[in-house]
Formats: sequence, structure tokens, C-alpha cells
Amino acid sequence: MRINRVDAFPLAYTEPNDCDSTRHLLLVRVEGASGVCGWGEAVTIWPEPTLAAAEIVRGGLAAVVLGREVEDVEALWLAQRDHMWWYGDSGIGCFALSALDMALWDLKGKALGQPLHRLLGGKVTERVRACASSHPNKATIDALAAELADMAGQGYTALKVGFGKKGAARLGQDMRRDLDFVAAVRAAIGPDVDFMVDIGYKVRYEVMQAVRVVRGFEQHDIRWIEDPLPYEDWDGYLRLRDAIQTPIATGERLWTVNDYRRLIERGIGDIVLVDAGRAEGVTGWQRVSRLLHAAGRHVNAHAWSGAVLTAASLHLTATAPNHIIFELKPKQSPVQFDLVDRPVEQHGGWVEVRDTPGIGVEVDEAALKRHLMR
Ligand SMILES: [Mg+2]
Repeated sequence: MRINRVDAFPLAYTEPNDCDSTRHLLLVRVEGASGVCGWGEAVTIWPEPTLAAAEIVRGGLAAVVLGREVEDVEALWLAQRDHMWWYGDSGIGCFALSALDMALWDLKGKALGQPLHRLLGGKVTERVRACASSHPNKATIDALAAELADMAGQGYTALKVGFGKKGAARLGQDMRRDLDFVAAVRAAIGPDVDFMVDIGYKVRYEVMQAVRVVRGFEQHDIRWIEDPLPYEDWDGYLRLRDAIQTPIATGERLWTVNDYRRLIERGIGDIVLVDAGRAEGVTGWQRVSRLLHAAGRHVNAHAWSGAVLTAASLHLTATAPNHIIFELKPKQSPVQFDLVDRPVEQHGGWVEVRDTPGIGVEVDEAALKRHLMR
């Protein structure tokens, strides 16, 4: 199917899972010869990279793929990479590439009448375990623990909490209070629910402080500790690894397959987070996932944005035998629930993997217009 048209849509939305903050994302639509459309998304978060990535798609990458056959999506990924040689090794160029690559995969699936997971080699599971990935906003430890227990009550068998976020929770500011928090959560959710702590970039531990913190958390059985040190402090990660028994998750700040190859070669990360809306799209995600599988490490889809990325990430996760859980926002976000016809949801702690063509969701263009940046 020939690619006839490429459009980019910078969107703004209110995120109830992040203290009603305004966040941004980029959607890209590619149209094939028969009028069929594919959709892709980049996790741009702030307004200026959203607008800049939209301009890179419209003014640069669109011309690379127009008139080409969408079935050649990986050759088109290479062609986009070649086009970006001077500005695109990381950063905003990667956002643009990621969204367009995802849209091309969606269109290819629709052109061939096949779900994305089948184009990628096939799903290894019919469903994935749902993890509630939350930025809590309660002032007291009791209220925070009760909120997380409520999520477990909704069926989630895994809960991830971000430290250093906006709002009243103040997690990551006081080590003793943080330890009390982890203990209270474990008591509230019981022994059978996986609990992960995501330290977040605003919390600044040095290595030995991180060792003390994680050893404290380990008494309450956390499934993994995420980004406990600055992402580029690889020597620190190796020192921490030798001093704790909890798996370390990291990687969401990386941009390219090559970045991940170097991370894997250095032995960093037991669980590696990869965002298809940032790290070279669906093509990049699958390449990293296969490197991780060959290295005996786990992959986790970082996809805390809109419904298109969530749908694509679900397919990717289902093709990865080395995944553990699949993260969802616990509160109904407008870009998860209003923007598409069939939002990805958990039922009883599981998310079913779809067999409809492409990524399995259609964007509601009226909803899209409501969220367009002005
Ligand atoms: Mg994280």
C-alpha cells in the first residue's frame, strides 16, 4: 500500500494521574492509497518538543516516506534515520521518528489485515498482567496505602509508585518516612501483589544512600527498584547492584537501539524500560527487546502517555517472552479513554491482546480536535 499523506497533530491534555497537570503528546497519521489511516504517538510531555517534533515530521520525514510502500516499514525506518543523520541521533528527532514509525506499522497491519503482534513475529501470550502505574497524591501514609490497596482491589496484581512527583504525597523527601510508606503499603496490599518503587529524577540519592534505602525497602519485598540513581551513572548502578538483592529497573531515558546495546553490554539493569514513543518507535522497541532477550534480561514497556502508544505497547509486550507486567494509568485519562474507540483496559488484573488489524484502536478525530494545541 502506497503512502499518500502524512499529518502531525500536537496535543495538550489534562492528566488526572499527575495532579491534573497539562501534558502534551504528538500524534502522527499516515494515509494509504485506499484512504486507510495508521496512527503513531510520541511521548513529548512538554509543549516545545511536541511542536518541534511535529515540524520535523511535516517538514522532513514526511517527504522520506511519501509515495513509498508501507510494507517496507523497516526500510523506511532506516531511510528516516539516514535523513536525520545530522540532528536525529537522540532527542526531538527520535520523537518524530518514533511517532511516524508507529503509524507506519499500524497502517501496514491494516493494509495486510493483520494485528501488529503478528507482523512482529507473533504474540507469545493471549493476555498480559496489568500494573497500575501511579503518581499518588495523598498527604498521609495511611491514605496513600489505602489508595494503593484500592487499586489492588480493582484487580491489579502489580502496583508501581513514582517518588518525587507533584502533589501532597512528598515521597522521596524523607528516607524514614519513605520506609514507613513502603511498609504500610505492603501491609495494606498483602504478600501477593507485586510492588515497585520508581525513584524519579527529582530525587537525588548518591550510591551509598541508595544502598541504605533499597536495603530498607527489601524488608518489605519490592519487586524492583526503578532509576534509584541518575540514569547515566553506570558505575553507580554496578556498585548498587552488588550491594542489594532487589532487581534494578532503568532505561526509560535512553533514545536509541545503540544506547540500549551499550547499556546491555555494561550489564546495567535487570529490567530495562523502553518507550516506543521515544526510542525509535515500534521498530526500535522490538530490536531492543530482542537484544535484551538474548542477554537474559527483562523488558518493560514505558508508555505513560496516550491510547495509541498504549495499544502499540501492548502488542510489543505480548511479543516479548521476557516481559513481566504491562503498565496502565489507574485513573481514566482523557487521552486514554476519549481519544480512541476501544481503549485498552484491564479486567481482573489482565489486559487481553487484540487480533484486530494494526494496533487495534482508531482515533476519534473529533476528540483529537478538542485536544489540539493552540
Ligand atoms: Mg520510571
